Amino acid sequence: MDTMYASFGIDRDIYEFGEKICETLEDRFREIDKTAEYNQLKVIGAMQQCRVSQACLQGTTGYGYNDLGRDTLEEVYSKVFHTEAALVRPLIACGTHALSIALAGNLRPGDELLSVSGKPYDTLEEVIGIRPSRGSLAEYGVTYSQVDLLPDGNFDLDGIRAAIKPKTKMCAIQRSKGYDTRRTLSVAQIGQAIECIHSVRSDIIVMVDNCYGEFVEKTEPSDLDADLIVGSLIKNPGGGLAPVGGYIAGKKEYVENAAFRMTCPGLGSEVGPSLGLNPSMYQGFFMAPVVTASALKGAIFAANVYEQLGYEVLPNSTESRHDIIQAVTLRSPEAVIAFCKGIQKAAPVDAHVTPEPCDMPGYDDPVIMAAGAFVEGSSIELSADGPIRPPYNVYFQGGLTWPSAKLGILMSLQAMKDAGLIDLSKKE
Ligand SMILES: *Cc1c(COP(=O)(O)O)cnc(C)c1O
Repeated sequence: MDTMYASFGIDRDIYEFGEKICETLEDRFREIDKTAEYNQLKVIGAMQQCRVSQACLQGTTGYGYNDLGRDTLEEVYSKVFHTEAALVRPLIACGTHALSIALAGNLRPGDELLSVSGKPYDTLEEVIGIRPSRGSLAEYGVTYSQVDLLPDGNFDLDGIRAAIKPKTKMCAIQRSKGYDTRRTLSVAQIGQAIECIHSVRSDIIVMVDNCYGEFVEKTEPSDLDADLIVGSLIKNPGGGLAPVGGYIAGKKEYVENAAFRMTCPGLGSEVGPSLGLNPSMYQGFFMAPVVTASALKGAIFAANVYEQLGYEVLPNSTESRHDIIQAVTLRSPEAVIAFCKGIQKAAPVDAHVTPEPCDMPGYDDPVIMAAGAFVEGSSIELSADGPIRPPYNVYFQGGLTWPSAKLGILMSLQAMKDAGLIDLSKKE
């Protein structure tokens, strides 16, 4: 085995350091496998109940009327997430697009959107109009306000109650931390916030940005009364196989409202062909619980490795997990760049290219992204990215298989060592 790793340029001390850490993680990995087992049964059960058949794997073209595979896949998502309805479409270009149509479809001029988990994900700032942008909700007369999380990372329930006004139509909750240094919210915590919001007014639409959270726990926010949950298919639920897409699941009326934005008023979810993508959508969702488990193992391994080297890691090496993201505070741009270069060198695709920081649409600072992925930009595949801004966090995620995630972390360590940024003989 060590010669296999040596063939990737991994030094013996790095390999052995990794092995020692792996030995300490067996109990946690077993627990993750149990969650994957539970969620795998959930998915298979839903596919059986919805009578997924060979015919569902055929695609439609053009308008896509009566697309059996597409409609049945949406039923499968509804069953797994315990919602009335779902939209699961290749027409939804990404997670931001899914969130954008869920918001725009349900908000009207004069309504207010209240984010109760602090500043939303970078790309949503332009959707909402927090940063002025053409076509934003702000341009259509939708106002925005925000309640930050408390310093301990919990919801500010009193602040939320006080911030809800008669014009508050929707509340947004972001489960994952995004490019932020805060804790990811657990499904249980999210449930408490939803209960609090609905106790003030039961007709407020609570939308949870569920990106990176699917299948990490045995329940989803929709099990605890979220009106809408939204995510990307090139993250957890696509299982690495869906080549594009997003989903919106929740109350029928709100999902339909989103569909009228996805296509247009009147047409809604009736149009939109699945093209030839049904097989990868189904198979990806089938794989998703186990793929998510692999990514989680990689994240926990990374936390343990970098914590022992004296870096701040979030979540830390021992705490419970609610998404697949691992943040490591690397304290310098050079370290972020070296880390990402190492991850890239572990990839099955494009391992020979070198990632560099650059400006990205929707992001305010230069961002460096390492992703040698089968699906462009897929972050359920082994990937790392970070905006080049203090405190120089890198966000590591994905790994379709645990061994590939492990290789990525060892390669990141090697790149840090080669750049003179770490010294294994001085580890804590
Ligand atoms: C990835 C992500 C998004 C946006 O998804 P894209 O597919 O990149 O548009 C939104 N919110 C969170 C928390 C995310 O992690």
